[in-house]
Amino acid sequence: MLGYGMIFALLLLLAFLILLAAIGIYVYRDAKDRRMNALLWTLVAVVAPFLTGFIVYLIVRGAHPNLRCPHCGTSVTERFLVCPSCGAKLRHVCPSCSFPVEEGWKVCPRCAAQLPEDGEAITPPRQKKDRALGKILAAIILVPLVLFALNLLLLTASPFGGGEAGGVGVTTMEAGDYLQTMLNPEIESWLQESQSGAADAYALRYETGEGEERRVEYLVYVSAWAGDASFSIGQTSDFFGRYVEIDCKDNGGGSESFLIVSGNGDPLPQLRLSFGGHPVSCEVREVDFPLDPDA
Ligand SMILES: [Zn+2]
Ligand SMILES: [Zn+2]
Repeated sequence: MLGYGMIFALLLLLAFLILLAAIGIYVYRDAKDRRMNALLWTLVAVVAPFLTGFIVYLIVRGAHPNLRCPHCGTSVTERFLVCPSCGAKLRHVCPSCSFPVEEGWKVCPRCAAQLPEDGEAITPPRQKKDRALGKILAAIILVPLVLFALNLLLLTASPFGGGEAGGVGVTTMEAGDYLQTMLNPEIESWLQESQSGAADAYALRYETGEGEERRVEYLVYVSAWAGDASFSIGQTSDFFGRYVEIDCKDNGGGSESFLIVSGNGDPLPQLRLSFGGHPVSCEVREVDFPLDPDA
């Protein structure tokens, strides 16, 4: 079962990848329109960390305006006098030498000819409207906000978010001593099965009590654990429940021993075992007799 943290991390990764893909497609098309090096800029925008490549692209691209013929929409540059596609006049020119001139100039700077007061009617090229950029910038701001809100929502909706934390106790006991204390043939035969089994760890689980008295006991056997093994205990929770996490280190030597875990709270803690930091599988069997000699 995927933990809530894992699901959240996957969502985050997915959102980031989609955003990166959108940025890549946008930069490729936009750079191509502006006659910039589309492949290079796409690579820069997608690979550079923290979207720095994308930001640099947005700054640099200002020098390459994305101009269109106002009549047919063909991509043009500011140097074009007419649209190569439909022939629309895009700039004023000197009537005698055809040098491009600006609105309001009185004399041609190239041939010194007088320019007419009101020259030919022209339609200057237009900057292409850039709606996609607005969407991408909105996504960059909104995606983290939405994920943050989702995170809060999931935490509140999780049974642990509203429930009581409860407590957990873990003790070790030498297997022989434990069996003598409990005198339960079912536990003895379970241990024998476990010793010849293939799984990393085995556990018996016993649940008792009602309401606030409800508690759980685990008897844990791991073949690799020695009697003087040291272990660390942590408690975590996610969308699906609470966990008591026990990590053991084999200190070598010693005799076989059991871990006895007992806990309460709502929901009751589930067991997660690791050995030297590596998670191990654990076969859990429900039983209807107590397992904690101190309880
Ligand atoms: Zn045109
Ligand atoms: Zn001229």
